[in-house]
Amino acid sequence: MRLLITGGAGFLGSHLCDRFLAEGHEVIAMDNLITGTTDNIAHLAGHPRFSFIFHDVTNYIYVAGPLDAILHFASPASPIDYLELPIQTLKVGALGTHKALGLAKHKGARFLLASTSEVYGDPQIHPQPETYYGHVNPVGPRGVYDEAKRFAEAMTMAYHTYHGVETRIVRIFNTFGPRMRLRDGRVVPNFIAQAIKGEPLTAYGDGLQTRSFQYVSDLIEGIYRLLQSDETGPVNIGNPGEFTIKEFAELVNELTGNKAGIVYKDLRTKDDPQVRQPDNSKAKRILGWEPKVSLREGLQLTIPWFREELQRRGEI
Ligand code: NAD
Ligand code: UDP
Repeated sequence: MRLLITGGAGFLGSHLCDRFLAEGHEVIAMDNLITGTTDNIAHLAGHPRFSFIFHDVTNYIYVAGPLDAILHFASPASPIDYLELPIQTLKVGALGTHKALGLAKHKGARFLLASTSEVYGDPQIHPQPETYYGHVNPVGPRGVYDEAKRFAEAMTMAYHTYHGVETRIVRIFNTFGPRMRLRDGRVVPNFIAQAIKGEPLTAYGDGLQTRSFQYVSDLIEGIYRLLQSDETGPVNIGNPGEFTIKEFAELVNELTGNKAGIVYKDLRTKDDPQVRQPDNSKAKRILGWEPKVSLREGLQLTIPWFREELQRRGEI
């Protein structure tokens, strides 16, 4: 296959580039580097089946030659990023998805949308199955991201229904691993960096809100299978192991040997979901997919990467 990965210089996009290249495919990464970095794909420079195009996908997208698949991953993804970039977030979810779908239609390519568990908002059903329509505040701080992704799902489904584009929608739950940006503000890089520096971990609120963290390799496997499946409806891909933020902080402190403990800060943004856990039964049924890496194992693979990154930047 010849694939286009938008957001290809981001955390997830770069791991997708690696996986599809390893499977023998040709990969074009497209990115405007608004939250990503070419550091994530520097190791691919000169690869005979890899190329990079610097481009903002909210503008008309031109790619020469045939395309078999488009994986649309371009979008700010962390709450801090989309609070700082609200208009860009709305634009890439709406205009960017439209442009990428138009390209898929033109090339006869299969299209896969990176959607999110945020489409469920602050959920009133727990765990969240794909059939749950969500509980989203359109005018709250997270609305720019949540509604952009909900619109993107609707646009994707419309291109499938009205134009016959072969589409896939993955609803990604909190994913972590090497290449997450140190300062993207998400809880995983925040806690690991604080712990390595011997600082107290900053739990927001009472730390009793929950998240379910999946290691990046499990997500990439799920996406790889979904792209090759026939499923056009949304599919949750996440690890059902659910932890409070306090439990997560304790685990990070244990694995790093950090003795500085936890401090509680009144920094939860409005509409910060109280709970989040994927109902994975659909992925299991149709893709034969289940996560394999526990949170502890995933952190053991991720902490050394952050340590090196902090050393490289001279911060430790
Ligand atoms: P990231 O910020 O590392 O990657 C996003 C990439 O998109 C960046 O490289 C950025 O520069 C690029 N981008 C943004 N706007 C663009 C534009 N207009 N044109 C071209 N490129 C643009 O974030 P990530 O964690 O890798 O997330 C990737 C995708 O997965 C996003 O769509 C996100 O919503 C989705 N997602 C991620 C998670 C997660 O836990 N990481 C969870 C749910 C959904
Ligand atoms: N959080 C925290 N301390 C931090 C960063 C985040 O306690 O330093 C909390 C945040 O309030 C949220 C959870 O951790 O309840 C997960 O936040 P993240 O930004 O990783 O992503 P979200 O799942 O909210 O999109």
